[in-house]
Amino acid sequence: MPLKIGLEIHGYLTTKEKLFCNCKNEHKNKEAKPNTFICPTCTGQPGSKPMLPNEEAIKKLVQIGLMLNCKINHEPEKLIWWRKHYNWPDLPKGYQNTISGTYANPVGVKGNFLGIGITEVHLEEDPAAWDPETGEIDYNRSGAPLVEIVTDPDFKSAEQVAEWLKQMTLTMSYIKALDSDAGIKADVNISTTGERVEIKNMNSISEIIKAIAYEIKRQEKEQVKNKETRQWNSAKGQTIKMREKESHADYRFIKEPDLPVINLKKAEVELIKKALPESPMEKLEKIIKKHKISDYDAKVLTANLEIVEMFEKIVEKVSPKMAVQWVTVELLGMLNYNKKTLNEVKINPEHLVSLIKSTEDKKITELKAKDILRSWNKGSKALDVRSQEAISNTKEIEAFVEQAIKQNEKAWQDYKAGNVQALNFLIGAVMKLSNKRADYQTAKKLIEKKR
Ligand SMILES: [Zn+2]
Repeated sequence: MPLKIGLEIHGYLTTKEKLFCNCKNEHKNKEAKPNTFICPTCTGQPGSKPMLPNEEAIKKLVQIGLMLNCKINHEPEKLIWWRKHYNWPDLPKGYQNTISGTYANPVGVKGNFLGIGITEVHLEEDPAAWDPETGEIDYNRSGAPLVEIVTDPDFKSAEQVAEWLKQMTLTMSYIKALDSDAGIKADVNISTTGERVEIKNMNSISEIIKAIAYEIKRQEKEQVKNKETRQWNSAKGQTIKMREKESHADYRFIKEPDLPVINLKKAEVELIKKALPESPMEKLEKIIKKHKISDYDAKVLTANLEIVEMFEKIVEKVSPKMAVQWVTVELLGMLNYNKKTLNEVKINPEHLVSLIKSTEDKKITELKAKDILRSWNKGSKALDVRSQEAISNTKEIEAFVEQAIKQNEKAWQDYKAGNVQALNFLIGAVMKLSNKRADYQTAKKLIEKKR
């Protein structure tokens, strides 16, 4: 039997509120104290009832389904909330509300993303966070809307899984539906020669790869006779047996009596579909065609929505060549160096356009422009081009040249004796003295003339 791998991916939706109450959906806010975004509903108090499900969450779920090319189930199909029962300290109600399960009609079905079949896309509430060491429970995330994406067992290797997950999360970032800070949690189903094994508890692509590689090797040695669930232990780099896999019946699914059938109309789905943004692939093809840029540059730009949006805005005002250079080299270089995102540094397209235009008009030198860009991070708010304007006035530069020679007598003598490196050194000194504002060519000519 050939190797078969399937994924169940959980991601947190970026909604303002939780799924069945008005509590803030901010469980990933690191400054938040435990148990601050809670109410009787999301802590499962006796007698509490869920509110109508968060519409924003349903809309985002539909967007995700559409981006994964799923068929969206809408009225007259019945989209029903179920109670999935299990006993665990993180689940005060004793059940989790979900649109999935044995008898469920999930919202998105039969999709396909980059050649991998999508079994279903559905929504459920997250349980609380339980710390087995201390016994403490934090209900901030209890009731947070979770999307679950289930793939068909179409993957043939760990590398394929990694590449697909990268593309999938990038695509999700384009619709801003998933909380990227919260990351993803994934369970992996894997079968090599025997029964299917489910590996739980992985929250990064690199861990998923390691777990798959480990499990393939393990199953070469130990025949898997019964379906089982294993846990990934990243510290040990091993999967550990948790239990023989429970069947759906063990969850005692029943229809949720306190929630109505989801009212999702065909027209609504059509509207969401029309308003969908471009996918990374569509954006890539578009910018290559429209601006005649290289595949490589287009890939760098589209790997991040903020960055490609910045490019698309500034390329309306400056040449594609300059836009590519300033965004992919200067801007990204600065961000990577400082480990910041574009949102964090508050550089807007107007800033960048004004910077680029000032160098094109030779108002400031390119070196100076790069300096200004880098200094943004240190708190300078506006682009102060005027005080940084390039000096092309020969007399002013001459003064700097004389000063540079005076301060670097040895270099001057070396240059006069024919040392070319000494010339570069002297030009450098002029640039330093002029705060990088002196015109390079003029400075060079003036020094040469003096020899
Ligand atoms: Zn609540």
